[in-house]
Amino acid sequence: MTMFDLSGRVAVVTGANTGLGQAIAVALAVAGASIVAVGRSAMDETEAAVRKAGARFHAISADLGSIEPVKAIVNEAVKTFGRLDILVNNAGIIRRADAIDFTEADWDAVMDVNLKSAFFLSQAAARHMIERGSGKIINIASLLSFQGGIRIPSYTASKSGLAGLTRLLACEWAARGVNVNAIAPGYFVTNNTTALREDADRSAAILARIPAGHWGNPDELGGAAVFLASPASDYVHGIVLPVDGGWLAR
Ligand code: NAP
Repeated sequence: MTMFDLSGRVAVVTGANTGLGQAIAVALAVAGASIVAVGRSAMDETEAAVRKAGARFHAISADLGSIEPVKAIVNEAVKTFGRLDILVNNAGIIRRADAIDFTEADWDAVMDVNLKSAFFLSQAAARHMIERGSGKIINIASLLSFQGGIRIPSYTASKSGLAGLTRLLACEWAARGVNVNAIAPGYFVTNNTTALREDADRSAAILARIPAGHWGNPDELGGAAVFLASPASDYVHGIVLPVDGGWLAR
């Protein structure tokens, strides 16, 4: 198990109060990492689960709708636990409307959180990681990094952009000891997919295409995050790893 051991490592996870971010934070904690949970909502539930796993926990309140807090997040993480080894850019939003009616506000809001903040937080973290010669950055992409989707133009643009950014950052930072990779979750049961799951027709159509036969449970994402955060992935750079119950294989 030493290849997947994160003892002594410090991980910043954005949007860790709920859903996939919470599941990733807990999985990294179980593997031994100290967790810095970043977001705009209370982190009590995540804190309880991380501490139950025997890991250290620190919360930072920040709104990633702007890049203003990114340097302070990295500084506070390093000040609190002495180092920063892993960054998970998980915070994300989605706005649904037909492309023909889509507003500039819905475009900007999604791009700001999903893409702009992910880039500038990665930059702030990498300045610290490159100085130490090691680090792991994991971007939470989407099936919309590969596919078009419908009624989510800014989401698809942001997640396709995040996949490209993952590859660019990997090319720039791989030789400097920093692994940059992404995970593309399939359809998981979280707040992000409430509208889809409440639409009986869309929900049934989605389920029918998932070879695994069920929507993803957030717990089913943790293993991929531990892999990309651990020494087991030291020679893995610039990939977008689907964790999708086989959706893309269909
Ligand atoms: P979620 O439950 O809606 O979680 C989104 C997280 O992002 C929440 O913690 C949310 O905080 C945080 N966030 C949103 N805007 C923020 C802001 N301005 N500042 C700080 N934090 C902010 O949905 P989820 O499914 O777990 O989503 C996590 C990531 O997975 C997202 O990037 C999403 O696009 C991606 N993803 C999800 C699926 C899926 O099927 N669920 C599939 C592919 C990709 P609040 O709770 O305070 O809003």
